[in-house]
Amino acid sequence: MARIFWFRRDRRLGDNLALNGCANQAIKDGDKEVLGVFWYSSNDFESQSGMRQHSLTESLKALDKSMGNTLSVISSEDTAGLVEFAKERKVSFIHATESFDPEGIAEQRQLASKLKANGIQLVLEDSYYAVKPGTVSKPTDGSAYRVYTPFFKAWFQIGWSAPAKLTKGFVWAARKGVSAIPVPTKPAQFPVRAGEDFALETFKKFQKRALFDYSENRNRPDMSGTSHLSHALAHGEIHPRTLLAELRDTEGHNVFRKEIAWREFYADVLYRNQHTLDDYYEPRFKNMRYDKGAKAKAKLERWQQGTTGFPMVDAGMRQLLATGWMHNRVRMIVASFLIKDLHLEWQEGASWFEKHLSDFDPASNSHGWQWTAGCGTDASPYYRVFNPILQGYKFDPDGNYVRKFIPELRHIAGSEVHEPWLLVDGLTNGYPEPMLDHSVERDESLARLKEIKVD
Ligand SMILES: Cc1cc2nc3c(=O)[nH]c(=O)nc-3n(C[C@H](O)[C@H](O)[C@H](O)COP(=O)(O)OP(=O)(O)OC[C@H]3O[C@@H](n4cnc5c(N)ncnc54)[C@H](O)[C@@H]3O)c2cc1C
Repeated sequence: MARIFWFRRDRRLGDNLALNGCANQAIKDGDKEVLGVFWYSSNDFESQSGMRQHSLTESLKALDKSMGNTLSVISSEDTAGLVEFAKERKVSFIHATESFDPEGIAEQRQLASKLKANGIQLVLEDSYYAVKPGTVSKPTDGSAYRVYTPFFKAWFQIGWSAPAKLTKGFVWAARKGVSAIPVPTKPAQFPVRAGEDFALETFKKFQKRALFDYSENRNRPDMSGTSHLSHALAHGEIHPRTLLAELRDTEGHNVFRKEIAWREFYADVLYRNQHTLDDYYEPRFKNMRYDKGAKAKAKLERWQQGTTGFPMVDAGMRQLLATGWMHNRVRMIVASFLIKDLHLEWQEGASWFEKHLSDFDPASNSHGWQWTAGCGTDASPYYRVFNPILQGYKFDPDGNYVRKFIPELRHIAGSEVHEPWLLVDGLTNGYPEPMLDHSVERDESLARLKEIKVD
């Protein structure tokens, strides 16, 4: 009787410890058969942007191919579909990678109890991280780290195993019927590539192209200075262990390791503070004054569509719509603008990101937003308000990033593109005037902060 392996955010065969665990047990069982299955909710799929839909579909196609076209795909609103599938195939065990975010935990709890009622066991192993969330604790009292740097040191001390190869000697059980991989209902702007082979290829290219200079160039959205592996990590097409195993003790490598550790830190913070997926990590920020109503909605729409009149903000928002990805520096700039210039709540921006980012990750998204909002784990003693114009001059010094995503500004050469309203012909192609005065809104944001200060 085959065992089921339930693929979740671990859509790869290499260094998949939960899959190896399942395969080893199948070999022990004698029949050696593993039935690979992926489950999704069609309502969730429908709510996502075209880029997100295509990236999931391509990820599943690649996985199916690597399994000799044996992946079964189930669509149902909750895990009941998986239970029915297991009952039909008369299996006794479903194996999977353990999830530590609120949705994943709810899913696996619900599934485990339904399976138990049918005499089937859910076996959970490993995680999507080098170090399992909840493992890194202060040696003094066992509590969680609230600040990144000491977390990083302790995380690095704990360490991780070397990447594991796929267990040999098991076979994929044939699926019944044709593949039910979801078909996107919305267009993508270009053919999306995904899957384990593509992730490994992307990492190799990054090692050659940009890893050495990563510490210098990673903040430059006009350069290809980062790995672009966030999509593969979010889908589990590559495990962080595979990346970490290749890193040495050079500046670029060390900074890249630290960025991987941010992903691990946020996963740990979310695991220990489940409510912070959509609620404030620092509760006093709940009482801050935020703008609401029709005017706020109109401001949100301008931000979403990239028509605020601030080139760096608009380039970022248009990059998101066009590619399903945005550079980290620009994510911080657009997030700061939404919260500190438009005075909207961080959750508004986070849910737009969730819909459009093909690298959407619940922990990195919620805590990336909360860090920028100042209500998260930022250890800085002052309240950061990014100046979207100065950020443009600093991180897109020749204006190439802005021109790439804003066609209305392509007639402006060099860095002047960051303040097109200062030029006689700057706004001739229909690009809007700035929707607000940044220095006025900065003061307004600081005034609102003062109202919730406890000293
Ligand atoms: C408001 C906001 C929302 C974000 N939402 C997401 C999200 O939904 N999904 C997501 O993967 N990342 C998110 N990030 C983090 C970061 O922007 C992306 O991971 C990064 O831009 C991905 O590009 P890359 O793979 O080229 O990164 P690289 O610079 O090559 O970094 C390598 C990997 O390290 C991790 N990493 C790097 N920086 C961060 C960071 N600040 N926080 C957490 N992990 C990091 C990512 O897994 C990334 O793929 C968010 C950041 C902000 C400020």
